[in-house]
Amino acid sequence: MIIPNLWATELEYRRTVLKAVLIVIIIAGGIFVVNNWFNGHQVYAIVELAVVFLCIGILAIHKRTTHLTLWCCIFLFALYTVILIGIYSASFNSGLFTWLFIVPVLSYLLLGIRLGTIYTCVYMLTGIAILMYALIYNIAKIYPITIANIVLCLAAIWALSFSYEYKRAEAVERLQKIASLDPLTGLNNRLLLDSIFEKLCEGLLELNQSVSVLLIDLDHFKRVNDQYGHDVGDKVLVEVSRILNQVRRKSDWAFRLGGEEFCVLVPNTSAQQAEDIAERLRHLISEVVVVDGCHISLSISVGVSRWPEDGDRFSHIYKTADARLYQAKLTGRNKVVTAAGEQAIVADDAVVAKLSGSS
Ligand code: GH3
Ligand code: MG
Ligand code: MG
Repeated sequence: MIIPNLWATELEYRRTVLKAVLIVIIIAGGIFVVNNWFNGHQVYAIVELAVVFLCIGILAIHKRTTHLTLWCCIFLFALYTVILIGIYSASFNSGLFTWLFIVPVLSYLLLGIRLGTIYTCVYMLTGIAILMYALIYNIAKIYPITIANIVLCLAAIWALSFSYEYKRAEAVERLQKIASLDPLTGLNNRLLLDSIFEKLCEGLLELNQSVSVLLIDLDHFKRVNDQYGHDVGDKVLVEVSRILNQVRRKSDWAFRLGGEEFCVLVPNTSAQQAEDIAERLRHLISEVVVVDGCHISLSISVGVSRWPEDGDRFSHIYKTADARLYQAKLTGRNKVVTAAGEQAIVADDAVVAKLSGSS
């Protein structure tokens, strides 16, 4: 599954939260280390110091790491374990159990719904079990009502953290959809084109496979608008999108770039297969489209380029497809121009120039 660039903003959000939490834990941890060291809890102070160093390490790499979730898991594992050890071994009257209240908040903020729920369940329930153990075996001066209050308060914080993260994730997903889909046709919009192309290439580099770019422009579309009106023009664009979706394979990506321009990314195909897909599109679209009772003849011009044959950067590949699309327009429209087609056109032009020069 390809994760578009927009996901980066979600990761940035988690990095910011992680940074803030790490700074707080480093400061609080430092204070606890000193306090425990001078109060005779040297072993626990050393364990806390180890967590503080871990936090400093994670703080140093949190901006550039590509394994952010893994580091969040490690950090929370260390932090929660120290809290639980503290509740278990230190005096229960120290109030250390109040740190249990940050478990659901931190888990959901840093790990999202699924992992956050797992972490919350494991550590909150273990914390409560330790408190119950202390109560049952009379290890500390702790009252049933205290535990009841802790459990209820934890449940409330859990419910709030869960619903906050659930709603936040839902809103982010909705915004990502709005930002990445073309509202008229429902196809992906231009925003995702480069990032999806790059992700496709990443996956195919080692397999020695290609990605073809089909750049499609409707011919004389202005005339459709002029003759039938803008609304019918819009419906024609929707119909063209439907045909694109019908022809593309599951692994292909279709985009509306704007106006009457479309693009299809075709991974993992030979040059011939890419040309066949483009030709199929051209044939289907040139069948008469009926919209609101109007019989409309359409045609498309297509420029096809390929990675890595036509360059290693998307901007080159795109420019090449655009140049071939331009050639298709110049040489009569309603055609597909590939690398081979382009050479043939250039050769034809050279022959014409030679003939006209010699006559
Ligand atoms: P060519 O064969 O050279 O591409 O001719 P063309 O008329 O298709 O090209 P041109 O770029 O001159 O015109 C594109 C037209 O597409 C202009 C505009 O009226 C129309 N258009 C752009 N966006 C939309 C849209 O969202 N809806 C409708 N109905 N028309 C649009
Ligand atoms: Mg155009
Ligand atoms: Mg056009």
